[in-house]
Amino acid sequence: MARRIGSRYTAHQILGRGSAGTVWLGEGPEGPVAIKLLREDLSSDQELVGRFVQERTALLGLEHPHVVSVRDLVVDGNDLALVMDLVRGTDLRTRLDRERRLAPEAAVAIAADVADGLAAAHAAGVVHRDVKPENVLLDMQGPLGPGGSHRALLTDFGVAKLIDTPRRTRASKIIGTPDYLAPEIVEGLPPRAAVDIYALATVLYELLAGFTPFGGGHPGAVLRRHVTETVVPLPGIPDELWQLLVQCLAKAPASRLRASELAARLRALLPLLAGMPPLDVDEPDTDEAEEAAEELSGAAPAAGQPVRRRGAVPLVPGARPSDSNRDTHTSMRVPAPDELAGGARGTARAPRAAGAPRPGSARNRAVTRRRRLTLAVAATLLTAAGVATWLTTTDDTPPPPPDMENSAPAAP
Ligand code: ADP
Repeated sequence: MARRIGSRYTAHQILGRGSAGTVWLGEGPEGPVAIKLLREDLSSDQELVGRFVQERTALLGLEHPHVVSVRDLVVDGNDLALVMDLVRGTDLRTRLDRERRLAPEAAVAIAADVADGLAAAHAAGVVHRDVKPENVLLDMQGPLGPGGSHRALLTDFGVAKLIDTPRRTRASKIIGTPDYLAPEIVEGLPPRAAVDIYALATVLYELLAGFTPFGGGHPGAVLRRHVTETVVPLPGIPDELWQLLVQCLAKAPASRLRASELAARLRALLPLLAGMPPLDVDEPDTDEAEEAAEELSGAAPAAGQPVRRRGAVPLVPGARPSDSNRDTHTSMRVPAPDELAGGARGTARAPRAAGAPRPGSARNRAVTRRRRLTLAVAATLLTAAGVATWLTTTDDTPPPPPDMENSAPAAP
């Protein structure tokens, strides 16, 4: 089912579907290419088409071994297509889904490639804004790098910015994938190069751990964690690598490394990591709030069933957590400062070393909480019923409070 795209290209078969459109294997005057045909609602938006044409030079200008170059931009009737270098391989999300977590050497080699690509982009004044495993392609035809890793290339440069601004994103909205969003974006500041560093550090953490540091549960909870929680060490991670991650996940953008320095520091770690097996970590238990929601909806996992994976939050209503085409962009209201401060400022719950005692399954804890709640209600009713008698038989000491463990913590 070949399809003509403009006068110079033919699209032959679908390679994959993303949030912005469909990517086709195509043919152009210079050989095989990948053609991203933007969704019809995007390509029929005249303002957006105008922006793509306006930014043509920035889009086409990036040439780097770790960046998927955009070769051409085609506006043809209702079609708006980006013609890109064809990468024969897969995306990093697919690899992560298959392997769950990577050996540190391979993970760091991939992150160093992406950091190199970012360094080139940042030097050209381009911020990616949507660094995540779906936007990292692995070239499986080229030579293998450290730890048997394939060359990694960052794709979708500038596309997030073009699609998201300005009509689709008002000042009060946040655009991005919640798990990888830097705290300054959550707080409403304009995205600068440091947001890409934060997102890349999140990706590296995910490659090592199998889950993102602040993901899981409701998107609003994820945003709050980015702003209020500190990341906790992964069991068994070499200290030098951990220090790099911590620095690049700093809440203050100015504290993060620049892309070129991050790339160099990551590559310098490769000899230390050679031959190291993937980290043996279990992901943290799900949130209390998430569990409560699951309990209410009757969706609590059965005993022995895995809890929902962090970093696999469906943002599109109805999308499955395992859907590798997770929504690229979610659009949300910027939370007010008091909403962000609603949770106790603290540390993300620690991932456990594999095999370390689990404090109790989600189901067990839910049952325990229900019991506590029942006891608390019973205690309150008994206290109320017996209060008159109690007052006559005791001094003026106030009655004991009901079990407070189920109460929301007081606002700081
Ligand atoms: P998203 O919008 O979710 O970032 P994309 O639309 O960029 O995803 O890509 C969807 C899928 O198409 C990717 O997962 C990948 O498998 C494939 N793909 C994208 N770009 C290329 C390319 N340049 N070469 C080969 N395959 C690609």
